Amino acid sequence: MTESAQHSPWDLTPLYSSPDALELTADLESAKVQAATFRADYSGKVIDLDAAALLAAFQRYEALSELIAKPQLYAHLLFAADSGDDVAKCLSQRTAEFANLMSRELLFFNLEIMALPDEQYAALAADPCLEPYGHHLAQIRTFKPHTLPEREEQLLTLKSLSGVDAFTRLFDEISASLSYEMELEGEIRKFTGEELLSMLHHPDAVVRERAFTTFLEKHQEQEIVIGSVFNTVILDHSQEMELRGYDGPMAPTNLGNELTQGVVARLMEVSEQNYGLAREYFTLKAKLLGLPQLKNTDIYAPLPGADKKFDFHEARDLVQTAFRQFSPKWEEIISAFFDDRRVDIYPRAGKSGGAFCMGMTPTYLPYVLLNYTGNLRDVATVAHELGHGLHFVLAQKQRLVNYHPCLPLAETASVFGEMLLTRHLLDTEPDKGVRIELLCAKIEDIIATTFRQNVLTRFEERIHAERSEGLLTSTRLGDLWWEENGRLYGDAVTMIPAYRWGWSYISHFIHARFYCYSYTFAELLVLSLYRKYREEGEAFIPILEEILGGGGSRSPGDAALLAGIDLEDPGFWQKGYDYLGELIGELRELVGG
Ligand SMILES: [Zn+2]
Repeated sequence: MTESAQHSPWDLTPLYSSPDALELTADLESAKVQAATFRADYSGKVIDLDAAALLAAFQRYEALSELIAKPQLYAHLLFAADSGDDVAKCLSQRTAEFANLMSRELLFFNLEIMALPDEQYAALAADPCLEPYGHHLAQIRTFKPHTLPEREEQLLTLKSLSGVDAFTRLFDEISASLSYEMELEGEIRKFTGEELLSMLHHPDAVVRERAFTTFLEKHQEQEIVIGSVFNTVILDHSQEMELRGYDGPMAPTNLGNELTQGVVARLMEVSEQNYGLAREYFTLKAKLLGLPQLKNTDIYAPLPGADKKFDFHEARDLVQTAFRQFSPKWEEIISAFFDDRRVDIYPRAGKSGGAFCMGMTPTYLPYVLLNYTGNLRDVATVAHELGHGLHFVLAQKQRLVNYHPCLPLAETASVFGEMLLTRHLLDTEPDKGVRIELLCAKIEDIIATTFRQNVLTRFEERIHAERSEGLLTSTRLGDLWWEENGRLYGDAVTMIPAYRWGWSYISHFIHARFYCYSYTFAELLVLSLYRKYREEGEAFIPILEEILGGGGSRSPGDAALLAGIDLEDPGFWQKGYDYLGELIGELRELVGG
């Protein structure tokens, strides 16, 4: 590949020929007209529709939603590729505002379905012609028992602007305003929070600890504000749970994830029973780093001499081979991302950071953004994002409302793809040092997405329970945080003193209550699926494709059942951790300890 081809971004012309294409303006115009007609045809009338008429309405709704989404998705990709470009910036802003306006215009449709009397709804849902929309219909109705009369909902929304939303915004503003100074290589320098956190991967232990301490102590200076935000947000949630008749603070999250409280409780218990696995790994890692014991700032430290680089051709080849060994069809799907230029590979000025895969609609193929620099984690990211890409391509046969997988299933193909790559590399990499690095990276990833998320969720559960007894001081918040982390680390890891403030910057607690256990769920599901594949071989491939191809048309429980997995069975979660145990055993053998 020539240098210029290497740096050329993805090809967005299958969407629109250019940002000023006439088709784009025409789509926006047409969407506006169609939304107005849709509203005129159905607003206040959903209750009068029979099954056939509701089906027709759904089909129009989907076609219209796609028309609204397309310009916005295009503009988002354009902007991600070059945020410095004014045309992209303006188009992105304009299409986002347009989509927001349209969603308000069309909101009535779902609200009226939610408001249908139970008997009428049951008759519609049972009609065979609405079968493709069955799961979607059920999801719309999920929150009905917890929805208040319209006027009360309006008042709650209105008052939250100067209430809980204001505290949430304050938290974001405070977090964004913090600036840090730290000595590095003999010089006092300014850093962003992100930069300090990324120094947890720095080779020097002193720098790692100094960076994290600087970061946390800055948060401690904001003790009054952050403590007040936590107390208010938690109190607001408990009041709302009471008003809406929920059974506990986690209930709405579980309902949205279509998981029962029992399943989540077992997931958390089994995770705690396996904390010993993490301690076993931390002890091995201390040995690899030549330390008597790990501090919590050493967990992600690079191993001495771990600097193998892979050029992108090698990375692509490794990932394609790993996928091909699973299924030649999978390789074909991911290879098409490169052939069609639906991947933006290298970092450059103005391009958005990190990596993502953007699912589009059932009509348009997904795109992947990378910032490839050549280290081992970058190779894993290629497998991860192409896994997402494959998931969307397989779900392309679904209707728009069923196209995006639900949250607990969203990481299935991406994490599975990473597992395929890890296994392929472990089997073929001649350098023992690289194999050790690879296993450590995989195990650290699994620990971060399972045990650490479980600690966060348990802490969150406890602060919600204690807040109902009265105000939580920051000392108490620190105590609870210390206790829950201590249960994981035991005597294998020493926590640095400033880690008492480790809770204070985690925005999930403020923005996405009890979100963290979804990571644990997703990771363990994939580990169990991967283990099943190792046991069952080729017979397992069509089952996994059926799960992935279902997109968002099934609940996590129904999807798991396809693979013969019963989420209610605690043994299922244990299987996932058993696989982690096997990986740690493999590492122990390589290390010789
Ligand atoms: Zn992902």
